[in-house]
Amino acid sequence: MGGTHNSEPEPYPALRVRALESLLIEKGLLSSDVVDKLVAIYENDVGPMNGARVVARAWVDSAYKQRLLADGAAAIAELGFGGRGGGDKLVAVENTPTVHNLVVCTLCSCYPWPVLGLPPNWYKMPAYRSRAVLEPRTLLREFGLELPESVEVRVWDSSAEVRYLVLPERPAGTGHLGEAELARLVTRDAMIGVARVTAAAPAR
Ligand code: FE
Repeated sequence: MGGTHNSEPEPYPALRVRALESLLIEKGLLSSDVVDKLVAIYENDVGPMNGARVVARAWVDSAYKQRLLADGAAAIAELGFGGRGGGDKLVAVENTPTVHNLVVCTLCSCYPWPVLGLPPNWYKMPAYRSRAVLEPRTLLREFGLELPESVEVRVWDSSAEVRYLVLPERPAGTGHLGEAELARLVTRDAMIGVARVTAAAPAR
């Protein structure tokens, strides 16, 4: 817990994008619906694909997995991800048959954007931020994830200094799949910890 939140200056490219967006909407060249759709793509597909590649690599390469768990920022940098604003420290937390990890930012919306892109709206909502801590099992059930009492739930509170990425369990029945195919199975929600990865590819 602790650390700073909400204090990150908006990066210069983000300011430029915002200015361009306002101008294009004002000139009637772009509708806010289109912008919303683009943002949704970044929330669901483009952003999380970085994290999905990290997870898939960890599943197929145990040495990489060890490096990821030891120093998340260095391991994602190996795949070309990271950079300014992502926080100095990225901690990958591994799900196992007996431990399930859930990521939240109780104070605002700190999020490991170099690997997950933009946070979904629900991640920023007060209900998610408080309930993830107070009643994580109930919250997860509402996301469709029923965890047996024997599974310990660990909740990780993000800050500007430390961000968390869940390393989900590799689903059964995927032994024949290669790294790229595995990456296609990994969802944003699984890397936040509100879902499992299943052997059936999600709709993108
Ligand atoms: Fe925060």
